Amino acid sequence: MSGILAQDIKFLQGVGPRKSVILNQELKVFTIGDLIYYFPYKYVDRTKFYTIREINSSLPYIQVKGKITGMELVGTGRNQRLVAYLTDGTGLLELIWFQGIKFAKQTLKTTVEYIVFGKPSEFNGQFSIVHPEMDEKPAETSKADGYIQAFYNTSEKLKSNFLHSKVILKLQYAALQLAKGNIFETMPAWLVKKLGLLGLEPALINIHFPANPQILRKAEYRLKFEELFYIQLKLLHLKEDRNKKFRGHVFSVVGDYFNEFFYHHLPFELTSAQKRVVKEIRKNMGSGRQMNRLLQGDVGSGKTMVALMSMLIALDNGFQSCIMAPTEILANQHYVSIQKFLGDMPVNVKLLTGSTKKSERAVIHEASLNGQLHILIGTHALLEDIVQFKSLGIVVIDEQHRFGVTQRAKMWRKNFIPPHVLVMTATPIPRTLAMTVYGDLDVSVIDELPPGRKPIKTMHYFENKRALLYEFIRKEIAIGRQIYIVFPLITESEKLDFKNLEAGYEQIKKLFPSPDYEIGMVHGKMKPAAKEAEMLRFKRGETNILVATTVIEVGVDVPNASVMIIESAERFGLSQLHQLRGRVGRGAEQSFCILMSSFKLGVDSRKRLETMVNTNDGFEIAEADMRLRGPGDIEGTQQSGIAFDLKISNLAKDGQILQYARDIAETIIAEDPMLEQPQNDILKKQLIALKKNHLNWASIS
Ligand code: ADP
Ligand code: MG
Repeated sequence: MSGILAQDIKFLQGVGPRKSVILNQELKVFTIGDLIYYFPYKYVDRTKFYTIREINSSLPYIQVKGKITGMELVGTGRNQRLVAYLTDGTGLLELIWFQGIKFAKQTLKTTVEYIVFGKPSEFNGQFSIVHPEMDEKPAETSKADGYIQAFYNTSEKLKSNFLHSKVILKLQYAALQLAKGNIFETMPAWLVKKLGLLGLEPALINIHFPANPQILRKAEYRLKFEELFYIQLKLLHLKEDRNKKFRGHVFSVVGDYFNEFFYHHLPFELTSAQKRVVKEIRKNMGSGRQMNRLLQGDVGSGKTMVALMSMLIALDNGFQSCIMAPTEILANQHYVSIQKFLGDMPVNVKLLTGSTKKSERAVIHEASLNGQLHILIGTHALLEDIVQFKSLGIVVIDEQHRFGVTQRAKMWRKNFIPPHVLVMTATPIPRTLAMTVYGDLDVSVIDELPPGRKPIKTMHYFENKRALLYEFIRKEIAIGRQIYIVFPLITESEKLDFKNLEAGYEQIKKLFPSPDYEIGMVHGKMKPAAKEAEMLRFKRGETNILVATTVIEVGVDVPNASVMIIESAERFGLSQLHQLRGRVGRGAEQSFCILMSSFKLGVDSRKRLETMVNTNDGFEIAEADMRLRGPGDIEGTQQSGIAFDLKISNLAKDGQILQYARDIAETIIAEDPMLEQPQNDILKKQLIALKKNHLNWASIS
């Protein structure tokens, strides 16, 4: 931003040094431009006036014109309030103040006509408004006939410094007066024309002071489009740039390893989704571009097999590969299943974790460096500098959201030419979010489960069905199944009446006593080794019931466990519930997920539990989750290293605009990859400006 927009906010009329500090701190508003880009969160149509007689309690807000006929103080102490009586000739409306009584008493006049605005409530047939907004008619920033009023989010601190929504509106007015004529278009003229967008200046004016609802919609569209468009352009540009810089290994052949495996070792037929994804990966790795691909697939969709086949392609081309998993159990699991899949094939696979013996380590390091080792599977231990390869062709990262940006970047540098990278996640994220958070990656999706899986049956029980629940557990154990019981908390918290783990554990032990039953427990406060040991006991079938916190969330595979019970299920987020449910349904047996909750449920909790009962589809759940919580809270995005600060768009609601913005950005990049054509000059400048601004789009692959 330059010129007037770059001017310090403290020089704006009505701000000054004190308020400017508050605006800096609370809203990150430092300049006039920052203020103008602080957008309203809602609008109230104040073009309509009601008569007092028309008021009814179903109206969320009303606006009336009238005169005050009298005032009185009512009640004492904390209950004291000022009541003013307003009339417009059709009836009487009470205006009530609990705070600022003195100020209201001094400033309210009985001689002028007021425009009064607020939320009506009714008591004994009498309507009143608590803390109404009062304007002498005509109001300062309004036209006398009313207007569409913008509302701004404020904080306690802002309010206590007299920066409430209405004052911010006034500041916007002053800022726009100054800026008018100095706001320069930030989108190329040809694009504005082609898409029929509102110009920047009218968009900014109307977003704060809408002349009418139609132009407000156009202003919103223009600003949302621009915001999403530049993010997409940036990501696609980044991808293009990377493609140019990093050549990537060309895996041109599919040879003996792959074919031998495919024709003689594959233990099952691949699902068509797996086939499609293997093809996508093969094409990508054969193209001469370095692959940066996100593989999304619901729990149990068979991502490991896809990873293995990708690694065999690397091997066919003379390259090594590795898989990194977030926990020892998972790394171990991969090791065991990959060994089993490969059978007697001459592929050298090794496991490297924190508990690998020192002597063994040395052997692995050596084999990795001299190229005898083909596939290395491990945990964070792979990140250590001492782990070096002769020629690393592909890195697979499982449950990628458990790893940070720097850890992933480290794997890039394990080879002179960066290896292909395949990151896998079982936490589906909504498409709009994937496009934004992972917009510079290629995305593959396994949207199909292997055949023959029985969908997990999910039930929601209230407390009154607890006896039934225990009966059910007994029956399942009797036919040889194992049970998870998950609790939200680890220690007793006086204030919260949620079931807690330890109490739950004691109770389960009492109800299911040794030696008929064996109960295990894992939680986050245990030492990793103890936790792993307890998990292993369960995996080996030595315990019937595993009482746990969410530490069992990620990827653990115990096919014989067929019942997942989640206590105080209302306390969990949707994606967490879905992840937990994914721990069962891995074997051939019918599996169950039982969500226990108290009777008292908020609207959102009820929706979450309903969603769980109604669908097993991770993507559907992710969409619902985003609608309920907003995109900022979706698991797998906070860790992405991308500062998320959309000023006007909402990924849960603006999916269509986003898709359109991405399509347009793709067309532009396809025609002018480095944005060198003169008509795209402005695009390039904006991207540079975005980089300088606080947006931190670190490479996340
Ligand atoms: P995830 O995608 O959750 O990592 P896994 O790779 O662990 O899933 O696969 C889950 C289970 O399904 C494994 O036991 C695996 O062997 C099996 N599996 C994978 N693909 C198929 C398939 N096409 N047909 C049958 N079983 C499969
Ligand atoms: Mg997995």
